[in-house]
Amino acid sequence: MRKASFKTFLAASAICMIAMTSCCGTTSGNGETADSPKYIFLFIGDGMGAGHAAVTESYLSYKAGKLGGEQLCFSEFPVLGTCTTYSADHQITCSSAAGTAISCGVKTNNGYLGVDPQCNKLKSIAYELKDNGYKIGIMSSVPVNHATPAAFYGHNPDREDYYSISMEIPESGFDFFGGSGFLQFKGKDGKSRPTPEVLEERGYTVCFGETAFRAEMDSTDHIVFIQPSGKDAEAGNYEVNDEKENDSRLAEMLQMGLDFITDSQPFFIMCEGGEIDWAAHDNMTMPMVDAVLRFNEAVQTAYEFYLTHKDETLILVTADHETGGITLGCNGSLSIDWKVLEEAWEEEGEPSSQDENRKLNGYGIGWTSSNHTGAPVPIYAIGCGAERFAGRMDNTEIMGRILGKVSTIQE
Ligand SMILES: [Zn+2]
Repeated sequence: MRKASFKTFLAASAICMIAMTSCCGTTSGNGETADSPKYIFLFIGDGMGAGHAAVTESYLSYKAGKLGGEQLCFSEFPVLGTCTTYSADHQITCSSAAGTAISCGVKTNNGYLGVDPQCNKLKSIAYELKDNGYKIGIMSSVPVNHATPAAFYGHNPDREDYYSISMEIPESGFDFFGGSGFLQFKGKDGKSRPTPEVLEERGYTVCFGETAFRAEMDSTDHIVFIQPSGKDAEAGNYEVNDEKENDSRLAEMLQMGLDFITDSQPFFIMCEGGEIDWAAHDNMTMPMVDAVLRFNEAVQTAYEFYLTHKDETLILVTADHETGGITLGCNGSLSIDWKVLEEAWEEEGEPSSQDENRKLNGYGIGWTSSNHTGAPVPIYAIGCGAERFAGRMDNTEIMGRILGKVSTIQE
């Protein structure tokens, strides 16, 4: 069965490759020809399984006065696949192992980042594409040195060695970085030099807020955008759903990245919605829905770019893993009482404990875990090369499929 479907996929891929040659054959900066799309957006909704999207769409339908039918931008994409997410040492992955699988095509241990289980350094798709003349943008709604964005530029067997990971930003040579702040702003002990100071010294312009970004963007080739509230040493430690006044939304951060790197050169942008996972760990339905909607806004921004560059753009939307084991319906309930859920949320505010959050679960939304689960995650695709993402795959196959190296698929 597995072999049959694999062969079918290869046959289908071969047809797609022929059909896509004209749009996906990109002459690279070093003269080689890569079979990757010219403009690539990879969106990672941290912890966003099929259930998170379904629950958010249920909420949108409720707001539209319907039982169902409302859709997120990305769930309207024409190609849908599913990814398995287990890591090298656990059935249930963490974000750094899953980020590494997606970015480098190799399974590693939970907690490891950009290195294999033997601690050998891996080369991510961002480095691979940079070598082929692509501009690179890495951005997240959470700190820029958190696991998912870091999996595209960092190499460390300890995902929480944040200060060292930040120091790999200038080594990467990537064009644009964006995030809410830097974890371990002044090092593990709080006594090292502030991260922005070191990055500036090593050739990167660090801007706090959009006004500063717009003022600097034309006078530098390497830039790090940090939310205004990320200027303080502690501010990188965001609370869930705690968008500070004057902070940019993820869609605005993506627009900044696009404005910075867009010209005739090819680009690869990884854009993470990081707080979806954080809300799901705490089983907080409404903040999770809000986080998915903000993530969806960013996808919409990429979709607008796609509409004017249809033959050259690939948009992928996926997750590193599912978080919380969320279900649409629980405890025998056949409906979701969004009105009660919304009102209960507004009345109780943001509960401080998971037990308090679970009290709000009696209205049709179920949560089964306070951690990640091993549920396969969806991958939604549109544009040049999207056909490569139909059907079942493992997260280690995503990189090869983006690059057009179908031979990397493991039987
Ligand atoms: Zn998590």
